[in-house]
Amino acid sequence: MSQEAAAPEFRIGFGYDAHRLAPGRELWLGGVRIPHEQGLDGHSDADVLLHAVCDALLGAVALGDIGLHFPNTDQAWKGADSKRLLSAVVELLARHGWRVGNIDCTLVMERPKVMPHAAAMREAIAPLLAVGVDAVSIKATTNELMGFVGREEGACAYAVALVVRA
Ligand code: MG
Repeated sequence: MSQEAAAPEFRIGFGYDAHRLAPGRELWLGGVRIPHEQGLDGHSDADVLLHAVCDALLGAVALGDIGLHFPNTDQAWKGADSKRLLSAVVELLARHGWRVGNIDCTLVMERPKVMPHAAAMREAIAPLLAVGVDAVSIKATTNELMGFVGREEGACAYAVALVVRA
C-alpha cells in the first residue's frame, strides 16, 4: 500500500440546553436580540442556542461542559453576552489544536417565530467560530404545545458540532 498523507482527524460533539422564560428579560437567541414580551432567564444572557453550541464544541473535544468553564457562581459571567462564552470556547479548542468544521442546531420554542431571525443568527455566529455562514445551520421548531416549551415556560436547544484538527 502506498504511503499517503494521514487522513484529517475529526471529532463530533453534541450539546443541549434549556432556560426558563421570564418577564422583564431581554430575549437573546443565537447572538441576536429578538423583540418579545419576555426573555430567557439565567446567570448570563441565557442565550440557550449559543449555550448548546458551546456544549457541542466542548463535547467534541471532551473538555467538559459550559457549567465547568463558566460556573453560575462566577460573577465574571453575570449578565454576560454569550457570544463571549462561545469565543472563549473556540479559543480553548484552538489551544488544544482544534478548529470548528460546522455546526447544526435546532431551537425548540413556541413563540416568537425564530426563523425570520435565522440569517442574522448565522451572521452573528459564523465569525465567532471562524467559519463561513454556510457552516452554520440553524433550524427551529415548536413543540406542538406540548410540555414546558408548549406551555411557554421555557425554550431548549440542541446542537451538534464537527471539529477538525487545526
Ligand atoms: Mg444555559
